[in-house]
Amino acid sequence: AHQPFPTAVQWSHLLLQPRLQPGMNAVDATAGNGHDALFLAQHVLPNGKLFIFDIQEPAITSTRQRLLDHAIPLDSVEFFQTGHQTLIQSLPPTLHGQINAIMFNLGYLPGGDKSRITLTESTLSAIRQALDMLAPDGLLTTVVYPGHDGGREEAALVETLFSQLPSDIFEVQKHAFLNYRPTTPYLMAVRRKKAEAGTPTT
Ligand code: SAM
Repeated sequence: AHQPFPTAVQWSHLLLQPRLQPGMNAVDATAGNGHDALFLAQHVLPNGKLFIFDIQEPAITSTRQRLLDHAIPLDSVEFFQTGHQTLIQSLPPTLHGQINAIMFNLGYLPGGDKSRITLTESTLSAIRQALDMLAPDGLLTTVVYPGHDGGREEAALVETLFSQLPSDIFEVQKHAFLNYRPTTPYLMAVRRKKAEAGTPTT
């Protein structure tokens, strides 16, 4: 059978899956319809913690329902109906630098209100906070959508931020189709190699 290359979202799952273990801490920064949240829940629970963000009530509701439909115990899952730019203040301080996986899937809710979209400024703020929250060997994945209004600029500025990360502390990859339209979504993934210089590595 034919096997197309993985899509951007599939790449994010492929990179994360072999690294996730029950007991890890994970964040879904853009819940949407909950596909990524379910994936994370299935790999870090039980014993782990999953924190889920979305600004929209329909996204939180649909994500909670998806987890329930798959019999995910919700006692280790925390929902925040607020912007991911509140990431650091929303999570317990004890988890600072202890998050093993953080997923961003930018843009709008499929089938939802296309005006409720991620915005460059809050996206960049949230991503900077996410980089701070990452545990050593933790992964941050970001799927970007250059195809919609504002999405091209958002993708470009996220890519600039990632390309300027110090290579002694982070490694960054981009997974993109080279011969498709430039509006095709692509994935950027960051791995934290070690704790920030000067921060305790307990
Ligand atoms: N990961 C989702 C899934 O698996 O179904 C898809 C996410 S969808 C492409 C993007 C989501 O980001 C939308 O549901 C939208 O409401 C949400 N969003 C927009 N701005 C946000 C913000 N500042 N903080 C958190 N979520 C936001």
